Amino acid sequence: MKKILFLFLVILCISFTYRGAESLYESASYRETYYTYNFNKEELLKVANEYKYLYENYSKTKYAPISVYRRACIFNNLYKRYKLSYYKSERIKALNLLIKDYPENWVTKFAKRRFRQIIVISPKKTKKYTVVVDPGHGGKDPGAIGIKGIREKDIVLKIAKEVKKKLSRRGVNVYLTRKTDVFIPLSKRAHIANEKGADVFVSIHCNAWNNKKVRGTSTWILNATSDKRAIQIAARENNVPVEKMGDINKIILSLIQSAKLNISKKLAYYVQKDIVRELHGASQNIGVKQAPFYVLVDARMPSILVETLFVTNPSDAQLLSRKKYRRCIAEGISEGIIKFLEEKDN
Ligand SMILES: [Zn+2]
Repeated sequence: MKKILFLFLVILCISFTYRGAESLYESASYRETYYTYNFNKEELLKVANEYKYLYENYSKTKYAPISVYRRACIFNNLYKRYKLSYYKSERIKALNLLIKDYPENWVTKFAKRRFRQIIVISPKKTKKYTVVVDPGHGGKDPGAIGIKGIREKDIVLKIAKEVKKKLSRRGVNVYLTRKTDVFIPLSKRAHIANEKGADVFVSIHCNAWNNKKVRGTSTWILNATSDKRAIQIAARENNVPVEKMGDINKIILSLIQSAKLNISKKLAYYVQKDIVRELHGASQNIGVKQAPFYVLVDARMPSILVETLFVTNPSDAQLLSRKKYRRCIAEGISEGIIKFLEEKDN
């Protein structure tokens, strides 16, 4: 008799837990729908916390994995609206919990498909990556001077620092070739990357053109080229007259290793795609290009040069002057690098 009573109690407890989880989940999901529809940030954050509570206190019920998933959805929604890295780290955290704690659950499989872009370095991976970020120009070399006197060297330093912050948060070792407004010769920059044993070298720049209408983002890899525009851009970045670029082309051609070229191209595609996505059509997508850039010659690892936007175009210059858009660019560069590193390892 006692045994039966005990069993009955156990069943009762389980069903209460289950009912408790169910009603909590139902109320949260109802409010989530309502506040998503009427977009209310504060209430959505409260709902996210309710899901967290559910996940932590009812971990054995089927509502636990679905709660972590809904939590990720909320932060994803907030992130898309506000582009704040805080929310982004939250959705990543929620997804990683889901993957770690419920690897075989259908919700996990669903989430993996839905959030394919933001599944980050899985916790079991211990390898630490090193990235060297090179803010172009500096000191006596201001780089391109644009609308309202904005200087390339100042903007790229700000973007590079933002990239460092973002990559560091994802567990990557990051070094900057310069942290202040100092002059560093082009040849020395890749050497720093070699010394640090970097997995990736990225040089950050702003583009310039004599026609103010030209605008957009491009990512460059080192190669010889016959394209006149590309030669002109490389000449400016190399600080040499265009007439001398013919010789440089020849020298570069003899130095290029095709293996590094292909892998750098892959890195360039990831970074270009992610910057363009983060900018949400605010400028144009020029694409991945190639030219003989001095700064990339000696780098022994996959290396690219990012021409973020044009300082000489009024709307591009305005974007570059705003912290919000510099952050978008930095986010794109970091995301692209992370994706590249992860794929390289798999
Ligand atoms: Zn530059």
